[in-house]
Amino acid sequence: MKKKQKSNDLNGSGRQGLEGLIRRSAKKHGTPLMLISREVLKKQYQRFRRSLPNVMPFYAIKANPHPEIIKTFIKLGVGFDVASGAEMDLVLNLGASPDKVIFANTIKSNEDIARAHKRKVKLMTFDNEPELYKIAKHCPRAKVLVRIKVDNTGSAVELSLKFGADADQAIFLLKKARSLGLQPVGVAFHVGSQCTNLNNYLRALDVSSLIFSEAEKVGLPLTILDIGGGFPIRHFDNDDHLTFKDMAGAIRKKMRRLFDKNTNFIAEPGRFFVGSSGTLITQVVGRTFRNNKNYYYLNDGVYADFSGIVFDHCRYEFKTLRRGQKFLTTLAGPTCDSFDTISLNEDLPELEVGNVVYVKNIGAYSCASAVPAFNGFPPAKVLMV
Ligand SMILES: *Cc1c(COP(=O)(O)O)cnc(C)c1O
Repeated sequence: MKKKQKSNDLNGSGRQGLEGLIRRSAKKHGTPLMLISREVLKKQYQRFRRSLPNVMPFYAIKANPHPEIIKTFIKLGVGFDVASGAEMDLVLNLGASPDKVIFANTIKSNEDIARAHKRKVKLMTFDNEPELYKIAKHCPRAKVLVRIKVDNTGSAVELSLKFGADADQAIFLLKKARSLGLQPVGVAFHVGSQCTNLNNYLRALDVSSLIFSEAEKVGLPLTILDIGGGFPIRHFDNDDHLTFKDMAGAIRKKMRRLFDKNTNFIAEPGRFFVGSSGTLITQVVGRTFRNNKNYYYLNDGVYADFSGIVFDHCRYEFKTLRRGQKFLTTLAGPTCDSFDTISLNEDLPELEVGNVVYVKNIGAYSCASAVPAFNGFPPAKVLMV
């Protein structure tokens, strides 16, 4: 018999089920409250594995480093992408195996590189020559992947402005790595976050395969291709960009065509693994009428769980538990700063103080980049459901 749909599957339980859960949780735990669904975390992992069965995922914990999320992924056998000594300690102390960790910041402090050595994290990325000297000194014999700069066109968050060697430098850098006693094992790239432009991936695979062939010719056979993160989720119910499944199908096909079947493919999904697991519940703490609009002041804002508006260039779909006629509305956060405006123009029903405003698909780059308590307003409590 088919298992009954669990109520903690935030996306699968329908609007009624979700709103019931929101009412109960807000009443019991107060707001702001971030619900994270373990069921959705698991589903996203399974979706990834189903569509890219030959790619080993290393969850990029910067998207959301909550320990319960990390533990859930450890149980599923997922690896981790960490960017600092502190992130490395976090996943290792929770029980991740060091050979399932990639230190994927191309710029690392000497102390953090030494930390990787001490904790037996051997796989790391780099994109410049000075970094190689640091790695050779503080983590001798490390396995290194050269991160190359690739097209980030159309991605919500640009990453190639700051990172990635020019592709034509890759062979020189890999040779240099070897001459310093390191193990040059492959190539890494990142197409930019929330990438809905499939061509970014396809072109990056083309460029990477050229580097693989060239490396083979100069006696540096490469074994690992790291296709990074960037896999998109739906932030709005009616988003109609390419789905992950369609993109993954094309990526897989191209990989099969361009690379030896013994190549080890890895990826660093962040948003795709946690974004849709999170639902944020806020409440109206004040209301007024200004500029011919309803103004609702929520108990969470841009300094806390809506920080993704600033850092992630993200837009969200705001929902309420009320029905009825909608009016032009501005939503603002609770701090004494006009910058703490969440959205200028929403269509929302009339709300009273105490009413709920909630947002789905806000599990990534939200609490992770929140300030602890600007103006005395702490970010949402996290509740695993
Ligand atoms: C941020 C980041 C990721 C995760 O990116 P998503 O777009 O969230 O999948 C992966 N790898 C590196 C190096 C990153 O900086």
